[in-house]
Amino acid sequence: MSTLKIIAEAIAGTAQDAHNNKMAKIKQIYLDNAATTKVDAAVVKEMQRYMLEDYGNASSSHEKGRKSREAVENARKIIAESINSNSEEIFFTSGGTESNNWALKGLFMNHENKLLGKNHIITTKIEHDSVLDVCKWLENLGARISYLDVDKEGFIDLKQLEKEINDKTLAVSIIHGHNEIGTIQNLEKIGKICKEKKVYFHTDACQSYTKTMLDAKKYNLDLITLNGHKIHGPKGIGVLYIRKGTRISPLIHGGGHEKGMRSGTENVPAIAGLAKAVELAQSSKENVKRMQKLQEAIIKKIISLEKTKLNGSLDLTRRLCNNIHVCFHNIEGEAIAGYLNNDKIFISTGSACASHKLEKSNTLRAIGLNDLEINSSIRISISKNTTIEESDYFANKLKSAVEKLRLMSPFN
Ligand SMILES: *Cc1c(COP(=O)(O)O)cnc(C)c1O
Repeated sequence: MSTLKIIAEAIAGTAQDAHNNKMAKIKQIYLDNAATTKVDAAVVKEMQRYMLEDYGNASSSHEKGRKSREAVENARKIIAESINSNSEEIFFTSGGTESNNWALKGLFMNHENKLLGKNHIITTKIEHDSVLDVCKWLENLGARISYLDVDKEGFIDLKQLEKEINDKTLAVSIIHGHNEIGTIQNLEKIGKICKEKKVYFHTDACQSYTKTMLDAKKYNLDLITLNGHKIHGPKGIGVLYIRKGTRISPLIHGGGHEKGMRSGTENVPAIAGLAKAVELAQSSKENVKRMQKLQEAIIKKIISLEKTKLNGSLDLTRRLCNNIHVCFHNIEGEAIAGYLNNDKIFISTGSACASHKLEKSNTLRAIGLNDLEINSSIRISISKNTTIEESDYFANKLKSAVEKLRLMSPFN
């Protein structure tokens, strides 16, 4: 053997050893980041400060209160800038669910909107339950709701949207990046239509925030729902962006916090933590590119297995960078998840929200999957913390789980 060849093999061997060592160190792999994310250590540190040191009530006029107030107003500024809006248009809530409830109920209940006879809301068949269930409830109160169809990749039809708008239409509410299938709607085009037809435009951007461009002005948005725990921030904190001049009533009445629009003592630690999470995401934009590369590599590996199909947008530029949703024909998603769970790899079948309802996903039905295909689908959602070693390890484990299950399946 030539010396060169020996050296080359030694180097390759070392690389392999290093790789194996990293593999051996993997204790668990969290691939359910669309359900929630690990809170960043810097976020926890920031929150701790507002629990252990500067724990004053932001409404108190003494120094301790002032420090809390400063934290809240600083957070408002950071978040406002991140979506190209103004501080006075940012309102803190208890999370994405509350923000969605407030946006739709607040518009519908508003006295002026009622006087104008506006009682029609347009949404889609693939919204998060915190929009769909509000719409169902509003129907009982006399609202008329149109649920737009989506194509097999999960995109709405802009022509159908335009056709649905009439002089009673109050608002259009359409999710930005989808929590199950990752499809990103074209908010710019939707916003143009809404502006032209003079109807309010709301988007649920919990999943897309910090992962793809979100610009309140460019997209003509009147209302935006955001939350903390999908972006490595705390749970139980959210934002509703309300464009100045929007006719909307409060959802929660009381002590008059947030300019009388959302009462309740401000959750200062969570607000400061959310702002920190936003800052971190903005200062490391390369994370999105890294996730895109990893996503593409994982998709390639999975799709190379037999009888698999990617659900959602096939064009990855119109798909959330952390989302992979796949159908493995003829085997149960739950069984795959069970095998992976035994290997301490955590993925999801259906969305976290739909899974405790034991209902089949509205979204998967809307993109044309039948019951068998829905049951055979899994969602893998990576994060900025996911490594190449983890994704390789996962792909191998997934492959062997699928092979085992295919051997057992009566259809194969
Ligand atoms: C998680 C999520 C919500 C709900 O937000 P919470 O803060 O958990 O109440 C709403 N919409 C989408 C798209 C989500 O992903």
